[in-house]
Amino acid sequence: SPILMWFRRDLRLSDHPAFSAACEAGRPVIPVFVHDKLSDGLGAAPKWRLGLGVGALADSLAEKGSRLILRRGEDALDVLRKLIGETGAQSVYWTRLYDPDTVERDKRIKSALQDEGIEAKSFGGHLMFEPWTVETKTGGFYKVYTPFWNAVKGNEVDAPLKTPSKIAAPDSWPDSDDLDGWEMGKAMNRGAEVVRPFVQLGESAAQSRLGSFMAHGVAGYKENRDIPGMEGTSNLSENLSLGEITPFQCWHAGQRAREEGKAGAETFLKELVWREFAYHLMHHTPRIVSGNWREEWDAFPWNEDARKSEVWDWKKGRTGIRFVDAAMREMYVTGRMHNRGRMIVASYLTKHLLTHWRIGKEWFEDCLIDWDPASNAMGWQWSAGSGPDATPYFRVFNPETQLDKFDKNRDYAARWIAEGHRKPHKDALKYFDAIPRHWGMSPDDPYPKPIVSADKGRSRALEAYENRDF
Ligand code: FAD
Repeated sequence: SPILMWFRRDLRLSDHPAFSAACEAGRPVIPVFVHDKLSDGLGAAPKWRLGLGVGALADSLAEKGSRLILRRGEDALDVLRKLIGETGAQSVYWTRLYDPDTVERDKRIKSALQDEGIEAKSFGGHLMFEPWTVETKTGGFYKVYTPFWNAVKGNEVDAPLKTPSKIAAPDSWPDSDDLDGWEMGKAMNRGAEVVRPFVQLGESAAQSRLGSFMAHGVAGYKENRDIPGMEGTSNLSENLSLGEITPFQCWHAGQRAREEGKAGAETFLKELVWREFAYHLMHHTPRIVSGNWREEWDAFPWNEDARKSEVWDWKKGRTGIRFVDAAMREMYVTGRMHNRGRMIVASYLTKHLLTHWRIGKEWFEDCLIDWDPASNAMGWQWSAGSGPDATPYFRVFNPETQLDKFDKNRDYAARWIAEGHRKPHKDALKYFDAIPRHWGMSPDDPYPKPIVSADKGRSRALEAYENRDF
């Protein structure tokens, strides 16, 4: 009887424990992607990017003589049951995910299928270190990154698996939906065509990205990773997010670079472990995705009204603070934002504008093609001061001195801000192709004055912090 290989955020064929196990079982394999209420509930850019990724996976499977069966339904359990009925499959395999909604769904599906006599089996692959396997000496979980790094850095990391050489097909294929009919890009209420050239789609593009970073980027990574005007980082988050590449593959490449004496390799390995740490936190404290991790922060007087004009100015990249505006526009055009930019815009929103981090996190969820439930939640709470291992609230980034330090020549600001330039950068102009007309912005406008200046925002934030009643 066939095995249903249920693909989710693991859109690759190599280094795929679940898929390899299915192919090695000596039974027909039916690859399937289910568009259910969780994938339907994604933000605009992540949903659109997921749709592209699913299409690329379908192409790779077709090249190997297999197929990707596409099915849609509110509840993935009903969809899988129906497919089991149609195909006579006795097994369903998938790769584990860790965000609370998916965990709840998968647990329910696993126990329902097992009760019905179906083998339902989940595999690793998304993380190097399963969150429950890393423990402090007293048996708890880690709340601070450095001890977490020290705990895992010497661990054996499995060597990546090869792409299975043979995928046995079933005697007959079940019907499949048409991907275009799902309209996964519909909610991208801006020019997806502006973002599309920045996408590196699918498994082989991800491998090339890793290869070129190892050849050209990793040596200088330690120094260059903080300079948003340079291509100093790997950009692999887009592919890691959808499992088009695995952390195992990145880790082993990083280790080889370290052995070759490439200076930035260790820093790169440490960043991969930040991702693992984010998942470790989300597994042990799932509330990190929706509520203040330090619950006393519930009493902080955040602005929680997303309609406020200063929130809109932030979203539109019209705060009058160059670092903030450049980064917000970069995200709108490329679907990504440099890490330094993420820290600055998050600090400005939560501290200078005293706005709840959740509003920022939700905007990122709508705009990022590398959206990741764990890293996004951790990044926002780290920035806001409400999370574990966070910057203390009183440490307020000054977006102007940050610009002097990390964008000395204003390459980044000039790449993304057109106003005030006689010959704006082509990317700065692309922003105006992407935004809705009713935002009422034009490259010919004067660049706005700060809505809240670096100094005023800082003292206002500190005052609110000092007057807090916790
Ligand atoms: P590189 O510098 O090349 O690093 C390699 C890999 O290490 C990354 O691909 C990523 O998987 C991991 N990594 C690096 N920095 C971090 C970090 N701070 N936290 C967790 N993992 C890290 N990352 C996402 O992938 N998705 C998100 O939705 C996301 N939201 C964020 C929100 C905020 C407010 C902040 C401050 C950070 C957020 N990050 C997020 C983390 C980080 O900014 C990105 O992972 C990084 O910019 C990705 O670029 P890169 O692939 O070139 O990274």
